[in-house]
Amino acid sequence: MGGAPAVPGTEAGGALVIENAYLVPVTGPEIPSGHIVVRGDRIEAIGPGPAPDLPGARRVDGTGCLATPGLVNTHHHLYQWASQGFAREATLFEWLVALYPVWAAMDAEVVRGAAGAGLAHLALSGCTTSADHHYVFPAGRGDLLAAEIDAARAVGVRFHPARGSMDRGVSDGGLPPDEVVEDLDTILTATAEAIDAHHDPSFSSKLRVAVAPCSPFSVSTELMTESAALARDRGVRLHTHLAETLDEEEHCLARYGVRPVDHMEKLGWLGPDVWFAHAVHLSDADIDRLARTGTGTAHCPSSNGRLGAGIARVSELLRRGANVGLGVDGSASAELTSLAGEMRQALLFQRARYGPTALTARQALSVATLGGARNLGREAELGSLEPGKLADIALWRIDSFAGAVADPVHALVLGTRQPPLARLLVGGETVVADDELRTTPQDELGRAGVEAHRRLVRLAGERGVPPPAPAPSPSPSPRP
Ligand SMILES: [Zn+2]
Repeated sequence: MGGAPAVPGTEAGGALVIENAYLVPVTGPEIPSGHIVVRGDRIEAIGPGPAPDLPGARRVDGTGCLATPGLVNTHHHLYQWASQGFAREATLFEWLVALYPVWAAMDAEVVRGAAGAGLAHLALSGCTTSADHHYVFPAGRGDLLAAEIDAARAVGVRFHPARGSMDRGVSDGGLPPDEVVEDLDTILTATAEAIDAHHDPSFSSKLRVAVAPCSPFSVSTELMTESAALARDRGVRLHTHLAETLDEEEHCLARYGVRPVDHMEKLGWLGPDVWFAHAVHLSDADIDRLARTGTGTAHCPSSNGRLGAGIARVSELLRRGANVGLGVDGSASAELTSLAGEMRQALLFQRARYGPTALTARQALSVATLGGARNLGREAELGSLEPGKLADIALWRIDSFAGAVADPVHALVLGTRQPPLARLLVGGETVVADDELRTTPQDELGRAGVEAHRRLVRLAGERGVPPPAPAPSPSPSPRP
């Protein structure tokens, strides 16, 4: 067994060399046995054979390993780690209506524990950069965005929090109860403050903020247009949920007289600085418009499956030139989904529906890496193994069970359990070694996630919301 060493710690400073690994740069030809030279937080060189002699360089023997770019998660709601396993057999709208009152009880302590556990779980599945869409801000509950930013720093992944928002409660014809929505001025002020306080536009940035009104059924058209104006004024990106379910399409048709993509086009929400979560229910014309305008989508297959939302037309989006990244989505609708596992889920969904050539393992890997980087506006820095890019690298062990699979990329994507993660580097620094988080004790983060769940259930209970029943819920529509 080859030896990616189990030595913890960071590799900042001098050169770090990974050797003897199967390299999949994603943008260039694969190298069956090659090396990567990392200096500081960037990739300096990549090539076949052993690395050049670099005095003082630390060496990682990648024998028996597959090196890929770190995976990029482009849709999540980290706070939902604390509300997993609720509304287990429900449509999106039923699930939301059940969960809004629970989320109304969250505070900064819940968010900190949930985000730490969620991000650690992501890092252990090869994720080096994650977005997060946080859109519930109950008044007087502390600085929820700062809490998740603290958690991301402790885990060590790059973080793209999207300051979400909802301003259209039930009394305005929206879906959420009025107690979880904010007013327009509060949202715009808080969002601008979040950008000022946290957004780092630099090449090496580990934190960028996006602007993210929640969805067409929880947000006013004024909030959508004002959010777009704010984001474009500040040079940050725009994100929202779109075309997730047919219920949403019916809502848009009833309220706006158009389908979701038409609605967003009218509001100035198509463009290369926008990415939509889900985009399940798209027409051919919708797909062409997304491709033509450079609008990205975050495919979240496990969540779409869990909620019975449908299967996104990923292979068609790719065929027509639209960008697709992956997302695990919030854990309340996808529970313990791993990012590496979403490559498999995406591939199987496409093939089950469109046939065995619909999505290859390499396309799934490209969606999970370069596609994600494009969604976040970071194609120049992330998403492939190339000199000059940031050294965000996953080193997967493929010399054990996975070694029996003829093709290493197929082994990575198709396994129900991902291969062991020998190393995960973020900007050249070790975040995971030998399947263990090295930045913060992972057991501590796991326990904090459990505590966040208990705390949220207790806080919700104090507001009269019962905990979910442990027994399976009865079928909502039992047949005789
Ligand atoms: Zn979502």
